Amino acid sequence: MREKTDRPIPQRPTASIRRELAALGRLPRKRLGQHFLADAQIARRIVDLAALQPMDRAVEIGPGLGALSDLLVERVGALWLVEVDSDLAERLRSRYAASPHVHVVEADALVVDFAALLGPGAPAVVVANLPYNVATPVLAALLRQSECFARMVLMLQREVVQRLVASPGSKAYAALSVLTQYAAHVRPALRVGPEAFVPRPKVESEVAIVEPYRQPPVAVSDPKLFRRLIKTVFTQRRKQLSNSMRALCADAAALLLGAGIEPARRPETLSLGEFATLSNALAEKEAVAKPAGQQTTDRQTTDPNPR
Ligand code: SAM
Repeated sequence: MREKTDRPIPQRPTASIRRELAALGRLPRKRLGQHFLADAQIARRIVDLAALQPMDRAVEIGPGLGALSDLLVERVGALWLVEVDSDLAERLRSRYAASPHVHVVEADALVVDFAALLGPGAPAVVVANLPYNVATPVLAALLRQSECFARMVLMLQREVVQRLVASPGSKAYAALSVLTQYAAHVRPALRVGPEAFVPRPKVESEVAIVEPYRQPPVAVSDPKLFRRLIKTVFTQRRKQLSNSMRALCADAAALLLGAGIEPARRPETLSLGEFATLSNALAEKEAVAKPAGQQTTDRQTTDPNPR
């Protein structure tokens, strides 16, 4: 258990980030989405949003130079830092060598088995300034393993947060919106401008609080089929459902009518509940068509896999 201290927040202005990288003989790596947080107040606000308790277990994805990790180290009982860049992982290992509750994991967050990594214990809290280029797949990977996590405080591209919370009929409403809203409650919490990072990204950022559901908000009998349906219809979001669903069902119009959904509607207008109804109708139709024993099962009933 760590004690929360009121030490002054370490400042990490632009020059110091450049210096720290230079000491490693490095420049920021674009392909790893390396935009380091240079604003110590923002770093503190992000960590405050995680509402951590001294006995909590936390995971940080992409700790980089430690802007968030330096604060997390003092607030939790155990901390896992998952960093794919070996120079940075090495630096983190020596930076926290005197803190036995900190575990530096040199790995790609996309392939980490968090249940195996964290072992038995209470679900962990994720805190991360995610690399933009893989933020959506990382979110999908975290939600696929949502039993490991109590909540996630994630800095993402603002446009992505808008998609995560988008309502039917809005421009931002996409497959990512439906699949994420099936798996978790998302709340935008803090907007951050490009000036807070080194180097400056071209986009605005936003911190979102993501709380995985233990029980999805709508009943879906076959989550795999639900994902397939969402992905299929949103590849042609402007097309009428009776057309875009043809790849899934020969008589799509009849299926839609049976589910109480007007066949001429476009996917971008359907609510999560309507998608669940439609998916269940499709699952029922497939179950009738398939002989018993050939039906698919899906053990991970809350797997959203927005990819
Ligand atoms: N947390 C630091 C901060 O706020 O200043 C760095 C954030 S930077 C936006 C993203 C970090 O994620 C970098 O350190 C980068 O090396 C790391 N990263 C990129 N892809 C990753 C992946 N697939 N798995 C783990 N870390 C990754």
